[in-house]
Amino acid sequence: MAEKIDKSKTEKKPRVQKPPDPNAPKCLNPACARASKTRGLCITCYGVARKAVKDGLTSWDVLIAKGRATAKGGRNGTLRSKAREWLMGE
Ligand SMILES: [Zn+2]
Repeated sequence: MAEKIDKSKTEKKPRVQKPPDPNAPKCLNPACARASKTRGLCITCYGVARKAVKDGLTSWDVLIAKGRATAKGGRNGTLRSKAREWLMGE
């Protein structure tokens, strides 16, 4: 007995462009809508911040204290840095 396959149910949903994951952490720069990649910043903002640190204009500690960056680390780093932000918040 061949099972009748309802194509409307088995058909895959058309692949639309994946909308940004609402749970994905965003870049800390409020003017930036990219997903954060490193230290809470997107690649572009991280590049700017890294250069500023390298040039001695600021330091990661200062940026972290200001909430402009997060401590280096993997996925757990985000959570830890958020706890740190919370602890050091006003
Ligand atoms: Zn950014």
